[in-house]
Amino acid sequence: MLSHEQNKIVSWTDKSDTYTWFSQRAWVEIDLTALSNNVLQIRKLLSPGTQLMAVVKADAYGHGSASVAQTALKSGANWLGVATVPEGIELREAGIQARILILGATYTNEQVQAIARWHLEPTLCSAKQALVFSDILEAINFDSPLQVHLKLDTGMSRLGTDWHNCAEFVQLVARLPHLQIASIYSHLATADSPDPTVMKLQHQRFESAIAILKEIGIEIPRLHLANSAGTLSDKSLHYDMVRVGLAVYGLYPSVHLRSTIDLKPVLQVKARVTHVKTIEKGVGVSYGHTFIANEQMRLAVVGIGYADGIPRNLSNKMQVLLRGVKVPQIGAITMDQIMIDISAIPDVQEGEIATILGSEGQHHITAEDWANQLNTISWEILCSFKHRLPRVNII
Ligand SMILES: *Cc1c(COP(=O)(O)O)cnc(C)c1O
Repeated sequence: MLSHEQNKIVSWTDKSDTYTWFSQRAWVEIDLTALSNNVLQIRKLLSPGTQLMAVVKADAYGHGSASVAQTALKSGANWLGVATVPEGIELREAGIQARILILGATYTNEQVQAIARWHLEPTLCSAKQALVFSDILEAINFDSPLQVHLKLDTGMSRLGTDWHNCAEFVQLVARLPHLQIASIYSHLATADSPDPTVMKLQHQRFESAIAILKEIGIEIPRLHLANSAGTLSDKSLHYDMVRVGLAVYGLYPSVHLRSTIDLKPVLQVKARVTHVKTIEKGVGVSYGHTFIANEQMRLAVVGIGYADGIPRNLSNKMQVLLRGVKVPQIGAITMDQIMIDISAIPDVQEGEIATILGSEGQHHITAEDWANQLNTISWEILCSFKHRLPRVNII
């Protein structure tokens, strides 16, 4: 029995009636039970008073934001984090009422009005941006104060006012009508590194900023600093809330953090064998003939390619799982198809399902494996699967 047949499909993103799941050539499976487990595991690390924000930007790292958000909230997450206004609206349209922080910078009139209308909560990075917000809210007669989150730069050199200049910025926002400071936060640049030096420096700077604000009589609101790596590595970084992305999806930000809690990968990529054949010694495979058979061999074509999100640079390097066996991919990865060497399992039939990323029995192929092969990070691998691949939610 194929592994997926034991699972219950709870939703299916392909709206057309023409195709059933079983007729698809390739898809992404989202294990919502694993997601729920991951959220519970992360919660166990937190003090009861610390809130958990599930970061669901970029369509929940490619997992499908609405179903991930709903599952995360049911399993103990309190807040959601997105990157952009449309990502926030998508969650509201799915009926989600939890507080949603927009982690990216927003400025335009339309964005500010959409934030107000949809009860989203923006990040403000500067006094100038706070004034823009206040003016627009004044112009539209916004009656209740908008909850805003002030970003300080403690060493990432991305969004935020420099921590040592925070007094003026925070004081200004505190005095502006229409705005209420819901939190002050910063973001860690190196929390996934085994060397904690920079993370400690950022922590000290965040503490110094808080001390400055206390001194000038600012009422300290909710504070937050930690991403997944910060959350797993040091409880003193948790403050009032942690913002967790990668770990929710079941991956560790770094090898040295693997022993902390028991996470399970949520996403698997599956594709069907579409054709099988025998090729003779000396025959070349795929564009450019980068693979030549050095003996007679059995080959299968699998219906997934770089247009689905498999990085072409994995050509002749990746492996896939089929019938519980790890077999090598051969030749150049093409737009919609890959070839695999099935000499070890020569009676494989057309229509059988291969695991491109995921587990079969004792074998695993993880986003980390691909990231290592490609000299990148697992975050990028998760975000690379295209919408051309339907997402199948299973529990
Ligand atoms: C993406 C993001 C996170 C989550 O990061 P992970 O490493 O995936 O946990 C947290 N905070 C901010 C500001 C982010 O942009």
